[in-house]
Amino acid sequence: MMGSVEIKLGRIFSEIYEEGPDGVPEFKTFIDGSWTRSSEGTTFDLRTPIDGSVIARVQRCNESDLERAVRAAKENQRKIRSLAAIDRIEIMEEVARIVRNHADDFAMTITLEMGRAISESPGEVRAVAERLRLAMEDSRKVSGEYIPGDWSPDTVGKVAIVLREPVGVVGAIGPFNYPLFIPSAKVIPAILGANSVVVKPSSSTPISMLLMARAFQLAGLPEGVLNVVTGPGYLGSLLAAHRDVGMVSFTGSTEVGREVARHGVGKMLHLELGGKAYAIVLDDADLKLSAAKCVEGAFRNAGQRCDAVSAVLVQESVADEFVEEVMKQVTEWRLGDPRDPSTKMGPLVNEQAAERVNGLVRDAVEKGSVLLHGGERERAYHQPTVLDRVPESAKILWEETFGPVIPIVRVRDEEHALQIAERSRYGLDAAVFTNNFYRMWRVAKALRVGEVTVNDYPRHGVGFFPFGGVKDSGLGREGIGYSIEEMMVIKTIVFNLEPAGLGKVRRTRTS
Ligand code: NAP
Repeated sequence: MMGSVEIKLGRIFSEIYEEGPDGVPEFKTFIDGSWTRSSEGTTFDLRTPIDGSVIARVQRCNESDLERAVRAAKENQRKIRSLAAIDRIEIMEEVARIVRNHADDFAMTITLEMGRAISESPGEVRAVAERLRLAMEDSRKVSGEYIPGDWSPDTVGKVAIVLREPVGVVGAIGPFNYPLFIPSAKVIPAILGANSVVVKPSSSTPISMLLMARAFQLAGLPEGVLNVVTGPGYLGSLLAAHRDVGMVSFTGSTEVGREVARHGVGKMLHLELGGKAYAIVLDDADLKLSAAKCVEGAFRNAGQRCDAVSAVLVQESVADEFVEEVMKQVTEWRLGDPRDPSTKMGPLVNEQAAERVNGLVRDAVEKGSVLLHGGERERAYHQPTVLDRVPESAKILWEETFGPVIPIVRVRDEEHALQIAERSRYGLDAAVFTNNFYRMWRVAKALRVGEVTVNDYPRHGVGFFPFGGVKDSGLGREGIGYSIEEMMVIKTIVFNLEPAGLGKVRRTRTS
């Protein structure tokens, strides 16, 4: 272990926290354009998974803080609406510049909050800067249509234009596993679409979003347009239920997503929920490539990715060779202190998460799986693990793993692999490895998921390609140009052209 864990931030962030008597920084939250304490003055301890120590105190907002945040968002939405769209783009460019200039602060915060290896965290920061840079691509989707009415006997003599308008206040609720990117990927399109936003970040990883709010403030976003409420999960349900919130964008587990949907009845909902990506390796695939991709797809971010490869279904005729290739790769994934640049995998978000993953591993072994690598956990650190010959009765084949485990199932053929994938309650991603064009098409068409990746592991990345779930993995589509559509409402304006002498005359019928 590399010594005590402390958050150290550059001067631009000095306004957002104060050092407590014990040296632990107390972060404020961002409501109505200022850095503020919760109305009751209460905070909660933020523990790092690196060694379990308290690295920060964060405001425990309550219902009245949420009320303040939604009111500010509602009252200030006109400020962003009255700003020329090109000015909104310029704010995004300025935020991108700030994020890039302070990339180290953002990256280390991610590492300390959630334990991601510092060799990986800068990738999330770059993705946010890239998402901001591509804001112009979002803006192209804020367009409409012209519809001539004389194709219907009902609307002859009229035309309509169809506009996309802001929904008003967007409620954004984010998970812990990409604490900077996921909330940002909600805030950016919401603001570009002239909405105001209230964000509720995960209480395991709230600081990344607070830093991002500071970047928006410094970039000149009008006050009150972006508000952050930190605190327990139930704030998310209150946000979803609030009468002044027009649209809810949620990313998190399927169970909590259902709760959010229950509270947000009657609102526009975008739900990005749990996933279980099966990677199907067929007997004509490049096995070296397939193994390398499956290992990286399963182990990046210690497997805490909704698009992680979380089971491999390999055709039994090539399974031995595939497993051999997998075993060559896994030794590279050194588990350790995530602050050490040579570490490839850090701890999971907390000890309970590591214990849950280990419970899935133990269940699989009890039911007959062969443990080829890893299998142990200590505190929040779970070893990179490979299980072979996993039987269909093992829970790990069906439950979201969210940890660094590769369960391998030996399947008879394509049909057998598809039967397993079809039984899953999830439908976010899948991968297929094959060099046969027709098999690729057959499998890709048969899989009931939002995205199929061929000859690579699924990776939503910056969201340049749209992604999202079917079945229990959610509804709506995320991505550049797609998320913004979920946050806009269509308004139709109908013009009667008769007063201009342009009303069409219908032909006289002879019978
Ligand atoms: P989670 O436990 O569902 O939490 C997500 C967010 O919901 C957090 O901000 C949480 O706040 C809040 N929340 C908790 N209870 C709530 C309630 N009763 N009402 C409203 N909000 C509530 O998910 P997580 O463990 O942070 O993230 C992992 C999950 O996210 C996985 O299932 C993963 O697959 C999914 N995910 C999906 C995608 C995708 O694109 N489909 C992307 C990333 C992650 P607290 O933290 O304060 O409890």
